[in-house]
Amino acid sequence: MSEVLVLVDFQNGAVKKPTFELLTLAKRLGEPSAVFIGGSGDAAGVAEAVKKYGAEKLYVIDDAQIKGYLVAPKAEALQQLAEKVSPAAILIPSGAETKEIAARLAVKLDSGLITDAVDIADGGLVTQSVFAGNYTLVGKVTKGTPIITVKPNSAAPEEAAGAAAVEEFAVTISDAAKTAQIVATQPRQATGRPELTEAAIIVSGGRGTGGDFTAVEALADELHAAVGASRAAVDSGWKPHSFQVGQTGKTVSPQLYLANGISGAIQHRAGMQTSKTIVAVNKDEEAPIFELVDFGVVGDLHTVLPALTEAIKQRKA
Ligand code: FAD
Repeated sequence: MSEVLVLVDFQNGAVKKPTFELLTLAKRLGEPSAVFIGGSGDAAGVAEAVKKYGAEKLYVIDDAQIKGYLVAPKAEALQQLAEKVSPAAILIPSGAETKEIAARLAVKLDSGLITDAVDIADGGLVTQSVFAGNYTLVGKVTKGTPIITVKPNSAAPEEAAGAAAVEEFAVTISDAAKTAQIVATQPRQATGRPELTEAAIIVSGGRGTGGDFTAVEALADELHAAVGASRAAVDSGWKPHSFQVGQTGKTVSPQLYLANGISGAIQHRAGMQTSKTIVAVNKDEEAPIFELVDFGVVGDLHTVLPALTEAIKQRKA
């Protein structure tokens, strides 16, 4: 069976959930092999994580030559690995940086690329969600090695034992690829809350908060939830773009999504409509979000949310 390469999403010293989702999808196309571009000091921890999701191999590309540069060297490194192992496909988590890597890799390998997939079926049929989730499109790469970027939360990670045999893969990065250097990085301020795309519960706020997220954040903290925002809230400068849920923000699929003061525009729905349970608080009973919810509360969020937070506190006591 041919290998399927899965690029590991490694941030802040940990393998992120999209890696496990991609390993799960990779099994439909061949034998999953994880690819880690990073310091070999982290390799043992990465191997431990990916072997639980069926990775038979872990290629480690030590980033000494790559570190400090933007995407081009990573694309070159993946090209060299792909040319050696001739994989059946290459799966990459969708993100701003990784999609650029995928595009460069596709040019280098003269191969077809499909971005932002939400599912991959046996036989390499790839589903995309288009027009803000109004249509699904099924496509297939017909040239070269299929390169597919997959949106987070597209598949439930399935545990499966793999060998995760570590193989160091040496690369030679050309000067031509070392054209854009990272000058400084600034870690985002830690909130102590879970990552938006990984959280089991998300409490989001929209324009209806009026810019006051106190009640949204208090409820999120009580539920150990992540905080999300609509684009209206982000465009108003109340939350950074990293909080935005929707077509031009993050796609989330938590167990529970609470939309507060969010009307339910199609572009917002596109990022959260696959949440398992959806609850909305909105003072307008005609708000479109109520067409989507499992539970809806018509009321002022600044009254309803503190009451809900208090009720949860009482239950815990
Ligand atoms: P509004 O639509 O103004 O709704 C506010 C809601 O709050 C109303 O329903 C109101 O009844 C309610 N409300 C007001 N006060 C209270 C209160 N005190 N208590 C309870 N409820 C109250 N949007 C996204 O969210 N994510 C995206 O990624 C995104 N991408 C886009 C991409 C494109 C190309 C375009 C054109 C638009 C995109 N949008 C996106 C914008 C989207 O169309 C909406 O404008 C946006 O989602 C509206 O945000 P909102 O629901 O917070 O605001």
